[in-house]
Amino acid sequence: MKIAVITPEFYNYGSMIVAGILKDLGYNVTLKKGFNNLQADIVFISLHSTIHLIKYKKEINQIKAFKILGGPVTTDPQLIFKYLDVDLIVKGEAEDKIDRIMEYVHGKRKKTSIPGVAFKEDDEIVVTSSSRGDSIEHPLPLIPPDISKENIRGANVYIETHRGCVGNCTFCQVPCFFGRKIRNRSIENIIKEVKAFKGKGAKRIAISGGTGTLYGSRKFKNINEEAFIELLKKVSEITGPMHLTIPDIRVDLVTDNILEAIARYTNGWIYYGIESGSPRILKKMKKGISVDDIFEAVEMARNHGVKVAGSFIVGYPGEEDEDFQVTLELADELMLDDYFVSIAEPIPGTVLAEEVKKLPLHENPLYMDSNDKRFESLAAERAFKFLLDSYVFRSIPVPMTDKLFKSIVEEVKSQEDHIRTVTAMIKGLI
Ligand code: SF4
Repeated sequence: MKIAVITPEFYNYGSMIVAGILKDLGYNVTLKKGFNNLQADIVFISLHSTIHLIKYKKEINQIKAFKILGGPVTTDPQLIFKYLDVDLIVKGEAEDKIDRIMEYVHGKRKKTSIPGVAFKEDDEIVVTSSSRGDSIEHPLPLIPPDISKENIRGANVYIETHRGCVGNCTFCQVPCFFGRKIRNRSIENIIKEVKAFKGKGAKRIAISGGTGTLYGSRKFKNINEEAFIELLKKVSEITGPMHLTIPDIRVDLVTDNILEAIARYTNGWIYYGIESGSPRILKKMKKGISVDDIFEAVEMARNHGVKVAGSFIVGYPGEEDEDFQVTLELADELMLDDYFVSIAEPIPGTVLAEEVKKLPLHENPLYMDSNDKRFESLAAERAFKFLLDSYVFRSIPVPMTDKLFKSIVEEVKSQEDHIRTVTAMIKGLI
């Protein structure tokens, strides 16, 4: 029996883990990027973006093998079955279900006894119940030989150190997909994995997993400094500091000791989720941080010589002109080293998606008219203005060239198109 694990665009971590577990169970498994030259009896497909349900619909529906779908898209089986013809959906985390899925494939178990899956029976969608296990340890991932060629926001791979976040941000999928309890991998398990990636040629490694500094902690706002610093030190001994990145940190979950460790053991960058400069919108997002927290965290990082990138969200439902203006003013005042600006995306399963489903289109900034002819919507107009200005107000201003200008326009248009499509999907318009 031949098994293929497919990831459409890049080798995502989840697909490598699933392939590693299947290998560990003794199966003949290959990990593939893209849908060409597929020869397998069973196919595990890992999709990480809602848009993939439309983008890869034709390729997936043409596959003749037994199809099992997993990944972050699986929170809404109804949405998946609207577009895709698959045999089984693994809802949420897949690792602890693979053995039982394979027992079903071998005829040794009924589908209804696999926890946390969805399937169609007589045109009805059946979803089985499941609960999350405590342990997230797993066998070594199946690492492809060309892993060194991957470039996912600058890294060859994002490894997971823990799961869950007891944060409550309305736009984020982490709490609904992984839960709010923090579950940690042991340092030994992580180090073994980092060595395996290095052995296969991966050089640049990023740590992911909810908000970074929660590693080792059991409660929200209860950072385990010692565990996090030990993690950075040990991983850095393998990768070298310049090749270790730690993305996604909350501004209220850093300390001087952590920043000192970031300066010492990583490439020296920190990525703060700032989202908005408007206290009203931060409250609506349930971000749980204040503008003062943001200033304090940026200053603390600078005191340790750590470079700061900030991510912001614009076009959030209810964002008024004044909210956007104060966000721009904050971004200007902070003079960060880099800026990431996204239009609010309603990811299925999140509070934001539920709001967007009910919100009339004309009340959503993504469908309000733009004064800038290059874009359809007010949300895109704001994203463009923010990105354009960000090259002036960053710590080292970047001269605007025709090429850079065009790339900003293209990026914003692509975001607008993507998020409008996702919005239309969740609202049942396409
Ligand atoms: S955005 Fe960050 S802090 Fe908020 S819920 Fe998601 S992982 Fe947690």
